[in-house]
Amino acid sequence: MEKRIIIITAPSGAGKTTIVKKLLASMPVLAFSISAATRAARDGEVDGRDYYFLSAEAFHQKIAEHAFAEYEMVYAGKYYGTLKSELERIWQQSQIPMVDIDVKGALSIKELYQENALTIFIEPPSLETLRDRLSERGTETQTSLEERLGKARYELSFSHEFDHVVVNDQLERAYEEVKNLITDFLKIR
Ligand code: 5GP
Repeated sequence: MEKRIIIITAPSGAGKTTIVKKLLASMPVLAFSISAATRAARDGEVDGRDYYFLSAEAFHQKIAEHAFAEYEMVYAGKYYGTLKSELERIWQQSQIPMVDIDVKGALSIKELYQENALTIFIEPPSLETLRDRLSERGTETQTSLEERLGKARYELSFSHEFDHVVVNDQLERAYEEVKNLITDFLKIR
């Protein structure tokens, strides 16, 4: 089977997680690609389900072993990466990895897998909406909220490099649009 891959990127708070969860529930061919990360687990997060939580030392060991398809320091001192072994695990199950990563990681994976990769950027309707959503979520301190907004502003400037941009003005509509894009992509070849 061809090694295809779906990459979804969005600034933190753009509603990506909800869309990704709905897609995984409705498209059994997709499997969530669990990233490795050095940040601390949030309440309710499970190692090996949400992320493979690694120490900085273990993460650097994996970099040295060339174990990553891509990795980035997404936030100050916090590393996130897609393990090649994770993608292989999913392909071996005859599924297609759904990778939920940042802009730079997404473009690196696109570079690697080219036409076998579909990149979708989920855009919030505005930065104000993003600020509201992040405040409501209540997971951020003032500093980390500002950091996430700054990163969002930067990430938005790369949206044109993606195969598709979907504006999350209304969740159900955005979800349907993303689902149609994936269905079309999987139909080809
Ligand atoms: P969070 O800390 O909120 O779980 O994730 C923060 C950011 O890290 C998100 O924008 C997410 O897309 C990104 N991210 C998660 N996993 C990876 C990965 O494996 N590689 C890269 N480059 N970014 C990732």
